[in-house]
Amino acid sequence: MLFRTTVPNPQHVLTTLAVMAGLALSVSATAANEHEEAAKTEVWEPEPTQITFNAEGVPSDAKVLLGPDSDLYAWRGEKGDKAAWDFDQGVMTVSPGAGAVVTEDAFCDMQLHIEWRSPDKIEGRTGQQLGNSGVFLQQRYEVQVLDSWENRTYSNGQAASVYKQHIPLVNAMKPTGEWQRYDILFTAPRFDAEGALKEKARLTVLHNGVVVQNHVEIQGTTEYIGAPKYQAHGCAPLMLQDHGDKVSFRNIWVREL
Ligand code: MG
Repeated sequence: MLFRTTVPNPQHVLTTLAVMAGLALSVSATAANEHEEAAKTEVWEPEPTQITFNAEGVPSDAKVLLGPDSDLYAWRGEKGDKAAWDFDQGVMTVSPGAGAVVTEDAFCDMQLHIEWRSPDKIEGRTGQQLGNSGVFLQQRYEVQVLDSWENRTYSNGQAASVYKQHIPLVNAMKPTGEWQRYDILFTAPRFDAEGALKEKARLTVLHNGVVVQNHVEIQGTTEYIGAPKYQAHGCAPLMLQDHGDKVSFRNIWVREL
């Protein structure tokens, strides 16, 4: 095999180096241009606030309505009296006949986290008679709470339905007696100065982390009998229903949006 070595011509070397330097310069010029172009669509203000999480995963900007260390300070009876539900170590349980409980505070648009648990099944009871309660946004719009584990009822009245308006996309229930979780995004309805409806309310619900209501439009109050209706109102409390069943609640927090 024949090998041939070539002695580089110094002139060629200089020319090649000059070309390479030129290329590098034009590459960096292009990169600088790109940065400039990219910067035109960057938005730096406002900077999102850094939040933190406590041991239970509650965001630092949330208002805790019921937590492991809280009492019932955030709640009252629906008629303005004391919240007369059973309370033990951060768990609040419906006291049948005591009536609904509502928050002291009123809310408009919000993110709500709430956990609930159905009592044991009762022989002979079915459908709406098992573990019935409800999360009423603004005291008017109910996301149904029901023991929908192996308990058939009308689909627009099972757990995580918007009562008699929207059927949940799936049944995400865990078995009776286990804690269930709702994460709810609520956009309140808008009314004009004369009280006419401008925009209907909207709701997204995750049941045990699964989307079961996806930005659905609420048609008005969630009625047991008859059609939903809208009547102008402002921000209003969150309400939990006493439907005669010993449903428990814990870890309730709200982020106002
Ligand atoms: Mg109910």
